[in-house]
Amino acid sequence: MSRRLKLQLGGDTDMEERAFPNPFPDYEAAAARPRSRHLTRNELGLLFHSDGKIINNFTRRIQTKIKDLLQQMEEWLKTADPHDCSAYTGWTGISLLYLQLYRVTCDQTNLLRSLDYVKRTLRNLNGRRVTFLCGDAGPLAVGAVVYHKLKSDCESQECITKLLQLQRAIVCRDSDLPDELLQGQAGYLYALLYVSTEMGLGAVCGSAVKEVVDAIIESGKALSREEKKQYVGAAHGMAGIYYTLMQPAAKVDQETLTEMVKPSIDYTRHKRFRPGNYPSSLSNETDRPVHWCHGVPGVIHMLMQAYEVFKEEKYLKDAMERSDVIWQQGLLRKGYGICHGTAGNGYSFLSLYHLTRDKKYLYRACKFAEWCLEYGTHGCRIPDRPYSLFEGP
Ligand SMILES: [Zn+2]
Repeated sequence: MSRRLKLQLGGDTDMEERAFPNPFPDYEAAAARPRSRHLTRNELGLLFHSDGKIINNFTRRIQTKIKDLLQQMEEWLKTADPHDCSAYTGWTGISLLYLQLYRVTCDQTNLLRSLDYVKRTLRNLNGRRVTFLCGDAGPLAVGAVVYHKLKSDCESQECITKLLQLQRAIVCRDSDLPDELLQGQAGYLYALLYVSTEMGLGAVCGSAVKEVVDAIIESGKALSREEKKQYVGAAHGMAGIYYTLMQPAAKVDQETLTEMVKPSIDYTRHKRFRPGNYPSSLSNETDRPVHWCHGVPGVIHMLMQAYEVFKEEKYLKDAMERSDVIWQQGLLRKGYGICHGTAGNGYSFLSLYHLTRDKKYLYRACKFAEWCLEYGTHGCRIPDRPYSLFEGP
């Protein structure tokens, strides 16, 4: 059947092509099951206690799986592309993973592993790309943070100096860099904000941040006058740019936020499809992936941040309503990763839970995590970089 015909037949066929039907009952149904037979929370499929603490059995399952996957990943790394230094699919991503494991376990060996991997990338900076996820800014920002944690202040400072040197190429007048998070100016800004957030606001000078913010705002103004294809989602589109500009560390002044950023967010908000997803670009009425990179799972982070910044209920209401689409269509055939996989979709529930403390979202996040524990058994497509940070499990 042609793709066009499928689209004419309606969204359901299209959805089946992209996602597995969600086999789990939603929270209300699971929580309302009769307790008369003294079923445990685990047997009821509730993977956390009434205070939100994850039940031991599930924690153990996750820990075992992490160990297992780390082994597989280390094996894969032996033959992985030595030149891919990115956080997205390369060595910086592996360094970030160990940094996160160090945060969770406080085990120093994880921090040293993180250092090993980031050192490798610092020797290999290519100077071509500049963003946190795809360019040199990623290894430099992660390097600064890892060295900082190891109290090697000299090396940490050296990374920050090099990171700031990239700025010249970004804010210069004839730069043809896009604004987006994955490949553009917002992706460089993200690196500065990451360092500020991890090491304290003084780590990167405020004027450097301001210069990039101003460049993005100016470029946004110019773009709004053009008739170019405009992406909506987190990776290439407006949601990722506005999300970054709303970060407290970006210190965008209130007037700019209210008069420039907010109307743009409201404009994007209204671009949704009826059932709740967002198009991948403003001119596209048919493409409807439910991914972090394109679709609600990325846009929802912009909505939550807008709620925190502007304190208007409509943003939170939107985020909660839109999350139903992720629950229904979020178990992706494309894989388990952050960018276009089930894990990235699970993150949106986790963020919603942190914001609202509503157990429904914790439940949904746990169920998506449970799905990911069965890694490799659903018949998903195998990505090009199967154990990388953004495409791997
Ligand atoms: Zn993606």
